[in-house]
Amino acid sequence: MKHYNIPIFIPELACPNRCIYCNQRHISGQLEAVPTEKVVKIIEEHLSTFKYPCEVEVAFFGGNFTGIEMDLQKSYLDVVQPYIKSGRVGSIRISTRPDYINDNILEQLRKYNVKTIELGAQSLSEKVLEFAERGHSVKDVENASKKIIDKGFDLGLQMMIGLPLDTIEQSKATARKIMALGAKCTRIYPALVINHTKLADMYERGEYEALTIEQAVDWTAQIYKMFIEGGVTVLRVGLHPSEDLINGKELLAGPFHVSFKELVLTQIWNERLKNIPLNTMEIIVNPKDINYAVGYNSKNKKELMSEIGNIKFSTDDTVKRDEFRLLLH
Ligand code: SF4
Repeated sequence: MKHYNIPIFIPELACPNRCIYCNQRHISGQLEAVPTEKVVKIIEEHLSTFKYPCEVEVAFFGGNFTGIEMDLQKSYLDVVQPYIKSGRVGSIRISTRPDYINDNILEQLRKYNVKTIELGAQSLSEKVLEFAERGHSVKDVENASKKIIDKGFDLGLQMMIGLPLDTIEQSKATARKIMALGAKCTRIYPALVINHTKLADMYERGEYEALTIEQAVDWTAQIYKMFIEGGVTVLRVGLHPSEDLINGKELLAGPFHVSFKELVLTQIWNERLKNIPLNTMEIIVNPKDINYAVGYNSKNKKELMSEIGNIKFSTDDTVKRDEFRLLLH
């Protein structure tokens, strides 16, 4: 069944931190707390565009949901309850910090039909976390993850690549740990240098070098493959392209690309198709993979055509995601 998300951004509410890379208000493009009436409006607008039957999830993203004043958390969650009762919304997902999880909070989230809790882990290297002034430790991520799973929620752990002191090996170690902690889903965000952040000051002083787009694509592709093999769903790669990121107003430097996911999956498919036999005539993939198999700007198709001549890509629902079938001459 088709799955839809209704994203609701709760920017920087009550977040006492200022991680060196973050200026959440600028990224989400919103300066004020979202009033509950607006949440209703967002839900109604989305519901009117969906094709039924479908699964619908309301997702509170952006800052630190469980750090918001309890009453406000409740009023956001309250707004969604009638939709859950009527069956128009199936579940709720929230994102928050690992150090804002405790038994009381989890009890309340359970009462309000929250199904998935995503934690911004960012890195599972103590030194990377410290340098990024995240304000929580690896142990906090481990403890919170365990509590979330023990209480029966689905766990998501989000990670960043390319923060100061990070390396590809370190990022892979973070990915391995995310899987070991039992995450069902993840998001991979390359670190960007956003204006009005400490990272921007470091960048201006020449103390931080952002990943190039090629590096970011390569690191993300390697990590993405590990998650596929580990059965962890990658829900997103790269930041949501807000208007201010696209027009460059907020972005000082870093590997931002509106089609970042396509670039990453193009690379993964490029590697998969690298050693196909020279007498391949047709490559058959799942319809959802076709754009990535052909590649961004047809990169993969062009490369294969220059190596082995005319080649056709086609789709078949019976081919599993991330797999392919070949027709040979
Ligand atoms: S915890 Fe999240 S919202 Fe708060 S400063 Fe860090 S990245 Fe930004």
